[in-house]
Amino acid sequence: MPSQIRYFIGNWKMFGIPSSIKILDKINHYFKQDKKNNRKYKVIIAPPHTLLQDFSYKYKKKKIFICAQNCYYKDNFGAYTGSISPFMIKKTGVNHIIIGHSENRARGENDKIIKEKILLCLKNNFNVIFCIGENKNEKKKKMTIKVLKRQLKSAIEKKYNLRKIVIAYEPVWSIGTGRVPSSYELRKNIITIKKFVKKHFKTRHEPKILYGGSVDKKSVYNFKSIKELDGFLIGGASKSSKDFIDIIKNFYK
Ligand code: PEP
Repeated sequence: MPSQIRYFIGNWKMFGIPSSIKILDKINHYFKQDKKNNRKYKVIIAPPHTLLQDFSYKYKKKKIFICAQNCYYKDNFGAYTGSISPFMIKKTGVNHIIIGHSENRARGENDKIIKEKILLCLKNNFNVIFCIGENKNEKKKKMTIKVLKRQLKSAIEKKYNLRKIVIAYEPVWSIGTGRVPSSYELRKNIITIKKFVKKHFKTRHEPKILYGGSVDKKSVYNFKSIKELDGFLIGGASKSSKDFIDIIKNFYK
């Protein structure tokens, strides 16, 4: 088994109906025949809540993992119309969940709510993909590292099992914009996050850090040389099996 397993995580956002399972089927087909590299990476797809049960059932014995995109910040059952708790999501058979996506932060999800969500997800034994990232203004003011540290410190406690948390560094200004950081800048930030996590949370565990923001078959070339990078969170390009597979192909080319 190679020591560094990379993640290719597709975030479908508000996309997908039952027949969209064919996208997974094509990715699964590619994965199975990619004998040269498939031991080096893990594919995780996050469809909307409406598809979790069906997809996780159909993919239970396969190599692609199904992931939820978010959850409510209260657990079990309750009078919260339209909300879905971590407990309810876990019962769909899903073991991965994205928390703290900037699109949810932009709709009012603050550090306190994110902290609650992560705690409940860990209690439900989820693997959490925790999104952090600075916005355009914060980048302009050279506040990137300060923002990332605040987001990490406010959501994670020292006692948490960091093996259950993968961090996705997603600069907000790069999501869906076609703009990506230079490989120099990205590597610098990834290394800083890794160092900070190890020092602040007093762990010898090497944290997994992904990059997300306009990753596609072309931009992925910029990131191939960053050995500290543990994979990608992919939005737009994950809605097409071809685009998603091309990212994997080009990464290992
Ligand atoms: C995302 O939504 O997490 C994301 C990275 O989107 P995109 O790849 O479309 O920029």
